[in-house]
Amino acid sequence: MSNCARGDMSGGPHIALFPSAGMGHLMPYLRLATVLLDRCCRITLITPCPTITTAEAVAISSFLSTYPEPLHTPNPPHVVLRKPTPLCRHIRPFCRLAGCPDPNRSPPPAVHSIHDLRKVSTFNSSSPKALIRPIKTESILFRRQLPGLTSIACLRASHRHSLALDHRRLAPTTADRKSRELTSKGDYKTWLESQPVDSVVYVCFGSKAPMGVAQIQELGKGLVGSGFRFLWALKMKISLVDEYDDHDEETKSENVRELLGDSVWHENGRRGMVMKSWVDQDEVLASSSIGGFVSHCGWNSVTEAMWAGVPVLAWPHRGDQRVNAQVVEESGLGVWMKEWGMGTRSGLVNGEEIGEKIGEFMRDENLRERARKIGEEARKAVDAGGSSHETITKVLKSL
Ligand code: UDP
Ligand code: UDP
Repeated sequence: MSNCARGDMSGGPHIALFPSAGMGHLMPYLRLATVLLDRCCRITLITPCPTITTAEAVAISSFLSTYPEPLHTPNPPHVVLRKPTPLCRHIRPFCRLAGCPDPNRSPPPAVHSIHDLRKVSTFNSSSPKALIRPIKTESILFRRQLPGLTSIACLRASHRHSLALDHRRLAPTTADRKSRELTSKGDYKTWLESQPVDSVVYVCFGSKAPMGVAQIQELGKGLVGSGFRFLWALKMKISLVDEYDDHDEETKSENVRELLGDSVWHENGRRGMVMKSWVDQDEVLASSSIGGFVSHCGWNSVTEAMWAGVPVLAWPHRGDQRVNAQVVEESGLGVWMKEWGMGTRSGLVNGEEIGEKIGEFMRDENLRERARKIGEEARKAVDAGGSSHETITKVLKSL
């Protein structure tokens, strides 16, 4: 339920949201947008067009259809860019479409921007713990380009309070659309619903494909060997990033079967499900059948697991994922397999070991209880008076 009366945009600032490309960046921005809209802000979403992946396009159109004009802004709410180029080049088209006067003439109305760290940002869509290097802010450049456009300095605040953004409002919107499209192809939802409580381990390494083929095969053996049920969102190739509209389902099925071997494939639809395409992770994690999550620890995945109160077996690959795995361990959300590589340069983890660890992890009821408590804390953080709620209030007041 929105706190903001329909059409009442008088109170809040106009904020341009400018995520980097990729689902891992877009999703937290869409979640932030729902929170800001709820606080009577006017939102302009700036994204490349076409998007790099189908998943992004679907998420954006689903978002826009859930928040139609004039609820958000009388101006076009969605500015499209032809390709991801430096931020400053986008200011002029953004201004034109968002209805600002020419920046070279009279002072434009105040428009605030939140953009991604990749362009040196002020809204950080990754863990605050990952911010170990000094942050320069691009707002000076931004101001020079367009005097009325300022960046939101919420970075310091996010150091203190990790912005546990409210997934509740967006989840049904993108989830519904995705699920309708998916069920005809791989009915993992029906399968998941029919499994006992906490019995299924969910395996997903984000929107990209970080593993080598040999490691994928060992993981398959490990899942079968663990004795637990499993739902595996398997990304096989970089080119399949974020895709879930499989045109060539049959051919890919054959490839996956060949890759994983019959022992894994024969479990498909019985004790396990292997999804080659996009699954709705938010919804999967919310299912009572899911008892654990084997994750690469992208920051979105970590916050989604926290929100769902699902324990994580952290198998990070690169960049900030190791820092996020440390957060998983220190917060009590899960265990971090520090010595496991990804079967590329760093050596192969064999199936037997994977199976044992997954078995141990899934049987750990204390861990599950701790994860549940973290889920409760996450909810408190976004409710009125909670730390995340208060952080947003402070940021908006400062505008
Ligand atoms: N995701 C999903 N289905 C998939 C794969 C990924 O819904 O099959 C979502 C996941 O819920 C998360 C995002 O894609 O919101 C991935 O972001 P994350 O930061 O976890 O990892 P990245 O892909 O950026 O490495
Ligand atoms: N990064 C970050 N916050 C962001 C975007 C990127 O901290 O909002 C850092 C992070 O450390 C990450 C690196 O930039 O490891 C590369 O980003 P990412 O892995 O998301 O790039 P991608 O491959 O998804 O484009």
